[in-house]
Amino acid sequence: ADDDRRIRRPRRVQVPPRGVRGEKMIYLDHAATTPVDGRVLREMLPYFAENFGNADSLHAYGRRGVAAADAARDEIASLLGAKPQEIYFTSGGTEADNWALLGAARANAARGKRVLVFAAEHHAVLAAAGALRAEGFAVEEIPSTAEGAADLNALEALLRRPACLVAVMAANNETGVLQPTAEVSRLCRAHGALYFCDAVQAAGSEKLDVNVPHADLLSISAHKFYGPKGAGALYIRTGTRMQPLIAGGHQERGLRGGTTNVPAVVGMAAALRYAAAEREQNNAKVRALRDAFIARILASVAGAQLNGRGERLPGIANFSFEGIAGAAMLQRLDLAGVAASVGAACSCGSAQPSHVLLAMGLSPERAAGGVRFSFGKDNTDADAAAAAEEVVRAAKELRRS
Ligand code: PLP
Repeated sequence: ADDDRRIRRPRRVQVPPRGVRGEKMIYLDHAATTPVDGRVLREMLPYFAENFGNADSLHAYGRRGVAAADAARDEIASLLGAKPQEIYFTSGGTEADNWALLGAARANAARGKRVLVFAAEHHAVLAAAGALRAEGFAVEEIPSTAEGAADLNALEALLRRPACLVAVMAANNETGVLQPTAEVSRLCRAHGALYFCDAVQAAGSEKLDVNVPHADLLSISAHKFYGPKGAGALYIRTGTRMQPLIAGGHQERGLRGGTTNVPAVVGMAAALRYAAAEREQNNAKVRALRDAFIARILASVAGAQLNGRGERLPGIANFSFEGIAGAAMLQRLDLAGVAASVGAACSCGSAQPSHVLLAMGLSPERAAGGVRFSFGKDNTDADAAAAAEEVVRAAKELRRS
């Protein structure tokens, strides 16, 4: 304890953020990340300081680590309809997406050095596709419809020439629009292309099964469904040729080196288990909150437009407010105690119009005005009502100024 007192520790803020009026902030940014569920945290804790062994060590500590990681792999596989040996742990969604594109395209270039990518994919996919282009792959975009879904007619036309890989996400992270994965999968199989599905945003609220529709590769990330950050997985169907992205040890069947992050994968499995068990009740609650919020805003804010149509994730509402920049709305809401986001969290701070909204054919002004509100299982009716009031007030003030 004496030693502990002599070590200077950085001061950490212990209380949750508050708005200018002093009340706890209303968190409406669950698509950016979610808090770790207390039950998940409790399952993780023993693997930090007690059962801390390296899962590769050949002693009892190691055996505990490998047993926990194997159990997590088995559970995740069973929840995704996969085999345990088809689940590869990664450092999150970005690594899984990068690996899916780079690893599969490089290993399968013989099928055609051509990759087709939905225009509204996450930057983790688009940037990896850019790297493939620099390596000499032809990378072509599958356009978006005005509603925000991948255009199937365009995909069918693009597939008339050989492509080794197609990337279409399960649900868009900015608009929540569910993608036509069944049709995409069918077209890929008919044309001999591998299908990679980024299911990072869908996992948690949507039931995922790697066989329905058939995916060859599929990515998830635990922090989107009340698990820890820095924990993800890539499903790789048995028989899919794949190059490693990270060279190193023999972990993950020699395809992804690095000491297994045992607490993280234990947390990811627990979080996916709770998400599956509580899906219906959480979705019903979140959808009702989101819909009440949308109705209130459309009724009270002139020039408010909802971005993205058709089937969407239950928690996401993406609005543009005519004449108001997304970043300005966001700042005003932050001060007022409401946490939302402009498009994707990663595009915060940049005044760039959202590539997702642009791909849907929206004007650059409307695409730069997109604000994403994403509800979670711990939000309340009072949160939705108070947040809607703050949006109404912020729109009035911003239009006056
Ligand atoms: N793919 C999608 C659709 C996402 O929404 C995100 C996160 O914002 C990612 C990939 C990246 O995941 P991670 O934050 O785990 O790197």
